[in-house]
Amino acid sequence: MHNAAFRELGLEGWRYEAIDVPPERFEETVRELAGGGYAGANVTIPHKLRALEVADSASEVARVVGAANTLVFDQGSIHAENTDVEGFLTALRERAPDAPGGMRALVLGAGGAARAVVYALLEAGAAAVEVWNRHPERAAELVAGLAGTASGAEIVATADPGLERADLLVNATSVGMVSPGSQPPDRGVPDPIKELPLSADELSDRLIVVDLVYRQDRTPLVRAARARGLRCADGIDVLVHQGAVSFRLWTGMHAPLGAMRSGATNGED
Ligand code: NAP
Repeated sequence: MHNAAFRELGLEGWRYEAIDVPPERFEETVRELAGGGYAGANVTIPHKLRALEVADSASEVARVVGAANTLVFDQGSIHAENTDVEGFLTALRERAPDAPGGMRALVLGAGGAARAVVYALLEAGAAAVEVWNRHPERAAELVAGLAGTASGAEIVATADPGLERADLLVNATSVGMVSPGSQPPDRGVPDPIKELPLSADELSDRLIVVDLVYRQDRTPLVRAARARGLRCADGIDVLVHQGAVSFRLWTGMHAPLGAMRSGATNGED
């Protein structure tokens, strides 16, 4: 995605590369990159929290969310950002420009992505946010951590999510990442929607759906939502928009969204 953007803008000499880093070498590696000609880095599981700790400075969004997915290097110093918040909101509004102001949202998940989503919803004026998680104590922890940013909005952790009450459903769990078809039949991979507290039949006609899980062949939730004609942003939409924010931070240039989407989907979207 980023290399496609560099090519599109003729940014010769720029390249985006994947580096596997064991947790015990994370800080050392980031400092080497910061002093070694890199403009920045994306950081993913399991390093998002550590990235925030290692940074010399951090945006308010990254601090409140408690995780950084983007690092920006400037003459050896390290700045931490969280671009999932803006990426999620831009992807949501591309499909549903009226969202999420005044809406009731149900967020599934309580990891780093869910925290970014809940923060984004509260900042953008959602009226109410319900958070469900497989391990309920993590949902309660997330709600306690972000309740202070909820000026006037209702925010609750729930064990019994009310999809019928929601205007907006966000899947911020990793359910749906594994394609049942990609597993040997004897592994018995469950139906991904059934791992979540909802069924395709419950998706009402006015529901807006965002699934953060990115998969070229669409997640079961995205397929169900699109089959019902619902307004739905998928994980590739969010991936491209959070990437566009990182691209802008590193290069100071507007990201070429078409080239990035094409790069993210191998031109098959
Ligand atoms: P994380 O911190 O590891 O959290 C994973 C979440 O998924 C937890 O809430 C976990 O619940 C839940 N979960 C995992 N397996 C489950 C299952 N079988 N049934 C129910 N819940 C399950 O990961 P994350 O960083 O928040 O990321 C979550 C997902 O969002 C990943 O798929 C990631 O790739 C995606 N994501 C996409 C974008 C994008 O740009 N599109 C950006 C960020 C993240 P427990 O707490 O109960 O274990």
